[in-house]
Amino acid sequence: MTDVRPVNFGAGPSALPESVLEEACKGLLNFKGTGIGVAEISHRSKEFTSLVADLEINIRTQLDVPPTHKIIFTQGGGTGQFSAVVLNMLARHRLLHPDLSDEQRVMDYVITGSWSKKAVVEAKRLGGASVHIAVDSREKSKDLKSYDGIPAHEDFDFAADPALIYYCENETVDGVQFSNDENLPTSFPFHLLPAGGLWPLVADYSSSFMSRRIPRIADHAVIFAGAQKNIGPAGLTILIVRQDCIVDVDAAAKLGATPVPITMSYKTNADAGSLYNTPSTLSIYIAWLVLERSKKLGGIEYFESVNGRKAQKVYTALKEGEAKGIYRSKVKEGSGSWMNVVFDVLGDNADSKFLAGAEALGMKALKGHRSVGGIRVSLYNAITEEQTDRIVAYMNDFAAQNS
Ligand code: PMP
Repeated sequence: MTDVRPVNFGAGPSALPESVLEEACKGLLNFKGTGIGVAEISHRSKEFTSLVADLEINIRTQLDVPPTHKIIFTQGGGTGQFSAVVLNMLARHRLLHPDLSDEQRVMDYVITGSWSKKAVVEAKRLGGASVHIAVDSREKSKDLKSYDGIPAHEDFDFAADPALIYYCENETVDGVQFSNDENLPTSFPFHLLPAGGLWPLVADYSSSFMSRRIPRIADHAVIFAGAQKNIGPAGLTILIVRQDCIVDVDAAAKLGATPVPITMSYKTNADAGSLYNTPSTLSIYIAWLVLERSKKLGGIEYFESVNGRKAQKVYTALKEGEAKGIYRSKVKEGSGSWMNVVFDVLGDNADSKFLAGAEALGMKALKGHRSVGGIRVSLYNAITEEQTDRIVAYMNDFAAQNS
């Protein structure tokens, strides 16, 4: 099958390992020897509930999730969590500080790209607290309007006792990513967070979840991710939630907090072992297959080193092409994402020429997001080093032929 399938560099939903897809075909017909397909079997069957438990163990072990945190599977995608984190974290804050007015209650947002901006829009729409922008990277960009980098630590300004502190680890559209080396100026500035321990730190990890370690995972209140980049089909959303953030939202509502829709309540989902209502069974199954495979390959450390090399190769080709005047990175050096490399091809119609040439060589889905244009090379876990070498060779050839 490998020879005939094109390489899918899409940004999500994105490539899945071929061996997993082949295995999933079998499971669609006969799940774990039951004779019933995975899309047909009850989510309360012992075979399926044990798979959910297994998936959780797989994530907990590979990511080293501490016992202070629960893992919850839900639906609604990253966008669903833009709402759910606000509602659950405001409920928590209401229980801690019942007497604050909505103006006094603050939610801190770090804006580094299109997804964090969307999260801000939803937070403002829901209300219940004032939104404070800890930093907006556009204000630090070259043209004062693009998301082209992670701001310097001195540009961040956090509130004193916010209900949540929100950031997006990897902005897929804009190709900007926090570094996971704490010594770099493009890492998340943990050292600037307010004193006093249990931070209400919320992170959208949708586009890099399971691709490398999560720095200071224990210091996060909520980490969430849609599955459709590195670990499975769309439809599954994974949450890692610190237990003090799993609160009685109805008790908070009695004190004036916004009532939380039942499927969004962390407590409802956690208490029901992620089976309060019917979960996205097929996505859960495929995510399980993907993580079983990851475990055999060496887990998160394996992917961290492979993904690091893949990104480095593509950024090197980009830089060499920039020196020849063929490409222009959309992102400042040091802020580029490992998962989504974004750039323009310079010249009239040059993006289209680049895309057509890639397509002819069996490399697809390289077109940049409609809002920013250009090229976007997504390098999620299922993209192999060999496939990365193919796009790198093409980038080099294209630059040589057009310079
Ligand atoms: N956050 C990030 C970082 C994303 O890349 C995306 C898009 N996949 C979303 C949130 C929105 O996710 P969804 O489409 O699953 O709602």
